Order: sequence, then C-alpha cells, then structure tokens
Amino acid sequence: MATVALDPRLDSKTSQFISGKHRMLIDGKFVAAASGKTLPVYNPSTGEVMADVPEAEAGDVDRAVRAARRAFDEGPWSQFAANRITASQRGRLLNKLADLMETHLEELAELESMDNGKPLSVARVADVPLAIDLFRYMAGWATKITGNTFPISFPGDFLSYTLREPIGVVGQIIPWNFPLLMAAWKLGPALAAGNTVVLKLAEQTPLSGLRLAELIQEAGFPEGVVNILTGYGEGAGAPLASHDLVDKVAFTGSTEVGKLIVKAATGNLKKVTLELGGKSPAIVFPDADLDKAIAGTASAIFFNHGQCCCAGSRLMVHERVYDQVVEGVSKIADSIRVGSGLDPETQMGPLVSEEQYNRVTGYIDSGLQEGAKATAGGRQKADKGYFVHPTVLTRTTPEMKVVREEIFGPVVCAQPFSDADIDRIAREANDSIYGLAASVWTQNISIANKMARRIRSGTVWINCHNVFDAALPFGGYKQSGWGREMGAEVLNNYTEVKAVTTAL
Ligand code: ADP
Repeated sequence: MATVALDPRLDSKTSQFISGKHRMLIDGKFVAAASGKTLPVYNPSTGEVMADVPEAEAGDVDRAVRAARRAFDEGPWSQFAANRITASQRGRLLNKLADLMETHLEELAELESMDNGKPLSVARVADVPLAIDLFRYMAGWATKITGNTFPISFPGDFLSYTLREPIGVVGQIIPWNFPLLMAAWKLGPALAAGNTVVLKLAEQTPLSGLRLAELIQEAGFPEGVVNILTGYGEGAGAPLASHDLVDKVAFTGSTEVGKLIVKAATGNLKKVTLELGGKSPAIVFPDADLDKAIAGTASAIFFNHGQCCCAGSRLMVHERVYDQVVEGVSKIADSIRVGSGLDPETQMGPLVSEEQYNRVTGYIDSGLQEGAKATAGGRQKADKGYFVHPTVLTRTTPEMKVVREEIFGPVVCAQPFSDADIDRIAREANDSIYGLAASVWTQNISIANKMARRIRSGTVWINCHNVFDAALPFGGYKQSGWGREMGAEVLNNYTEVKAVTTAL
C-alpha cells in the first residue's frame, strides 16, 4: 500500500485504521478480494493515496450474496429457525450498533472527513449523529411492523389478515456524499424488517463503512446477515444488481446509473428502489424574511459542498428582491472558508475526487460560455486537492446545461421571476426531469402551502432547506427515484405483504 504521512491532527486510532490492512465483511469474516486486487482511496485535500481497499468482483459478490441467502433461509435470522432471533432482539442489535457508533463517534467523524473531504466539524454534528439516530429509529420499528385484519364480503365465513414479511436478500449500493449516513439509511430499515444485506460502498469513500462493518461484528449480528463490499460500480455494483439470488436492490446515486440498475434487475425482476439526482428549486417570494432566506438559500446549495441530491441548485427569486438576494448569497459564498476538512476554521472542504472536480469546473465553464455571469466563485485552480470555490451564476436561462443538469457541486444558478401567479411559478419550478426537493421562502402561509401542493417533488421545505429526520420520508418524484428512504414509508420498500384467508 502507498503510505503517506497522515495528518498529525488525526487521532492515532483513526490514522492506524486508515493505514491498516482493509478487508471486506463476507459471511461474518473479514476477507480480501478473491483476486487479491485492491483499489486506491484518495485524500481529497491532497490528491494523495491514503489507503487501499479490496476490489470486489463478481466472484466476491456471489460469495457475499450466497452468505446472505443462507443467513436469510437457514440461519438464526430466518423467521422459522428454532433458535430464531426475535423482532425485539433485532431491535436490540440495532440499538447496540448505535451505542457502539456513539462510543466511536469522533473516529467515525474523522474517517468521514478524511475520506469525503467534508469538515470534521460537520461530520461530528451531522453525518455521524444522524446515522446513529437512524439506527435507533429503525430499532424501534423492528417490533412494530404489523399487518391488518379485514372484514371481507366474500360469501361464507372467513378470517382474513395480512402479514408483513421481509423481502429476503437485499443488495444495496450507495454513493460517496454521505458515506456513513447512506449506509445507515440502507442498513437500518432492511435489518429492522428482517432482511439480510449485501452493501456495496462507494469506491471513493469506503473507510467509514469498513469501520462500521467492524462495529456490526462487535454488536453481534449473526454471520451472513450483513455483508459489506468495496469495489467499483461496474465490477461489483453491476453483478450485485443483476444477481439472481438477490430479491431486491436499493440504490442511491446518479439518475444515469439508476437506469442501469433497473435494467440489471430485470433478469429475476427483483424489486428496485432508487434515490437519484435532483435539481431542486429554492423559491424566494418578495415578502420573505430576507436575512433568513439569504442565509437559508446559501446553505441550501453550499452545505456539503453542494454534493447533496437535494441541494437548492436553482435559486428562483422574485424580481423585486432578486438583486438583494443574489448579492447576499454571493457575499456568503465569498466569505466561506474553503480548506482541509480537518482544519477547525474550514467551512467547506474539497470535492470528493478529481472526477468530480473536473465535472463541476466543467459545468462552471459551460455556464460562463453560454453567457452566465459569476457573481461569486468561478473557476479557481488550487495547487493540490479538489477545491472549488462556492459559485453563484446569474443571467442563467432555463435551457442552459447548468440549469437543466445536476452539477453536484457548490454552484447555484439564480433566476428572477416576475409573476405573482403561483401556478406559473410552480410550472417553472417543476420544469425539470427531477422532483426530489424544493424550498419556498415566504411569510405568507397560504402561498407557502399552495406552492407546497403544486411542486412535484418528494420533499418541500418552507422557510428552511436540508432539514432531515429519521421519521421523515425522503425520495423523489419523476426521475429522482422510486420509493422512499426513512420514516415508516421505507419499511414498505423492505417488506412483502401477504394476504392470508381462512375459511372458518
Ligand atoms: P456519482 O455519480 O455520484 O459518483 P454513481 O451513480 O456513479 O454516483 O455511483 C453511486 C454508486 O453506484 C457507487 O457505489 C458506484 O460504485 C455504483 N455504480 C456505478 N456504476 C454502477 C453500475 N453500472 N452498476 C451498479 N452500481 C454502479
């Protein structure tokens, strides 16, 4: 493995973990890829390789899927095993995992910051606590997944009820923007509902997930119930999505790859849920509390460096307050301290990878070439690392690439609207292939709620943006996805419903 000096600010345990030998979790054991191949993990603040992790391929995926299959069909996780793990015990295992994560919160936050680039201060208060909270919330659901009884009208005397049963073996594929939190969103509900899992981490950010795998072992999940793989999308993600012994695949990532997942799933018609891209509008009405709207819409796009599927990347502002809002958001953009995630002064770290750096700066160039103007940021080359300054583009028009496509970086396109006709404003807000989220900024509760009903997206925030809770369903309309993450809703995506009727 390429060894580079890790940042001296890191706790020694974190450094040791990063530079240690990494293994995947398959069938309750930590193993290398069968081929012995590894893939490099980069530090986005420096562009240097800081770790190597196994590069899983189809054979490794098959091993993991078969282990999950055995665990579901035969092991103590099976509903019918003599020594079966009860719903209450499943909940306790999830709570134990959450407790262990809490004990290691600082280490997990450091790993997240090193791997993804995000400020440690953010990982510490957002990513890790939200992931812990999600496991606790889902632990509570383990004993509350129930069916119904039905007064049926078929002639005769019958008792009819439904059972909610786990789907079986679930393949899960996650991205790099919130590595630990995305793992929690996926594992929590699947395990609470009694499924077994093969989770593939993002190749850019495998470290916190591998540490989570150790904590899962420590918590005492039976072998094969959770399998965690590292590998590339085509090499490991694709064979997982197409595997015949997988009953369901849950994917979070780009809309482009989401479509490939759907195709890959057709072989055995496995169930599919997708949480995909977005191009979320943040809509500011002239009566909004402008200080809050400016700070809120800036954070809507710049939080996590714009690497959020629900980032408020289209800033729509009424023309009466447009200049003031754009100036305010641009000032905030200019004031954001960009630097290494471990630096306590840093408010925005680097983008996750060279690929993302090239993609985001390419979009900025494309916007400027098409006639947009940068009132903050724009292309600025750093000596090393994948740093992009928060950027505000004005004079954008609805047909520009920067307005239509997901950039997934700290770049917002500002556009004025002139109308008080909320149907027309909603049409403009809905003019996107995506429908993940939106925010509406106004003090008029009637306008706010009328807009909330007209916007075609899975989340609408009023006078806020990026507010998440384990209890709230999250997911997309249109090409932003299928199904929902979190809340009670997600459990529908991890259970089958069986109707049982008895002639009495
Ligand atoms: P991003 O563009 O944000 O990197 P992707 O959609 O490319 O997001 O990746 C999200 C996840 O999907 C990653 O874990 C990646 O390895 C995986 N992936 C990429 N391509 C494929 C594929 N063809 N089949 C299955 N998984 C894939």
